[in-house]
Amino acid sequence: MNRLLVLIALTGLIGCGQEPSIGNDVATDAAPARTFTWRMATTWPKNFPGLGVAPEVFAERVGRMSNGRLQIKVYGAGELVPPLEVFEAVSQGTAQMGHGAAYYWKGKVPIAQFFTAVPFGLTAQEMNGWLLHGGGMALWRELYARHNLVPIAGGNTGVQMAGWFNKPINSLADLKGMKMRIPGLGGEVFERAGGTAVNIPGGEIYTSLQTGVIDAAEWVGPYNDLAFGLHQVAKYYYYPGWQEPGPTLEVIVNQDAWNELPADLREIVEVASLAMNTDMLAEYTARNNAALTELVEVHGADVRRLPDDVIAELKRISLQATDELVDESDPLQKRIYDSYVTFRDNVIAYHEISERAYINTRDPARAAPK
Ligand code: CA
Repeated sequence: MNRLLVLIALTGLIGCGQEPSIGNDVATDAAPARTFTWRMATTWPKNFPGLGVAPEVFAERVGRMSNGRLQIKVYGAGELVPPLEVFEAVSQGTAQMGHGAAYYWKGKVPIAQFFTAVPFGLTAQEMNGWLLHGGGMALWRELYARHNLVPIAGGNTGVQMAGWFNKPINSLADLKGMKMRIPGLGGEVFERAGGTAVNIPGGEIYTSLQTGVIDAAEWVGPYNDLAFGLHQVAKYYYYPGWQEPGPTLEVIVNQDAWNELPADLREIVEVASLAMNTDMLAEYTARNNAALTELVEVHGADVRRLPDDVIAELKRISLQATDELVDESDPLQKRIYDSYVTFRDNVIAYHEISERAYINTRDPARAAPK
């Protein structure tokens, strides 16, 4: 009781702006807060709508939330390192942080693709469920620890488009011999369907389509595809985005740099990343429709649905390719696969009677009174 009275008395003194007679040692002994200046390498063109602006906003927020103790300078694709070398650069400490997508590193870590997008796999909402409340994040951390990295979910575009094609796709035969920019497992599936897949950075898609280096390309969806002007170099715009139903983007942090951060700054980085993860999906949800309208009505894009038999075959190949991705001799890969597949099967079962059932009621054709 006496201690409580002393505390109340002290609080009263401080509140009145008077120097307390004891307790000055607390202030004088506190070490000045250490400040950190980090580089963040990204895979996106500098300030590209959505993808490239998001890490800039993230860095500004971290600066404000930390009261300037953690300053992050963001580099666009190629400014610090080439876009597809971000993983290696952050792993080695050339940059303390990176922003990109795990499937860009499939040549180095094939199993990492589960943490971006699996064809015919989880949607954005479901990826967040798996990563943040379904055990996925712990597995991602365990996998990336092998590469001296700490991953954090850092963005999602929602369901993408199947991409831009320079000729109509009427059957599977039309895919054969076609060269397409399509990264990740989607690229593997496209190859098995008879095409050739290339993994080129976003900033090179327009020129590659224009010069005929590729015949087709998937990038993101209307908002981002319009920004690149892809409608100027290919006519046919196909959906649905079977290859990327809800790709998660990643913030990656060099493990040694992470270890140096005090706990409060780590928390700030994590929370700012998760804010970016949510905010990006909201941005795409808000922008895609208007961009699609402009693509069709102003620029004459020919929007088409992939034929049912093409989708069915791509799905058959996708499930096979997903199963074969796992190196069974590595127990961690098996655990990642089992976790993803179990979550997928369970969430699909419930979403049949929730998400899908509800969305079907909004379909004008289905909603019309009989
Ligand atoms: Ca894509």
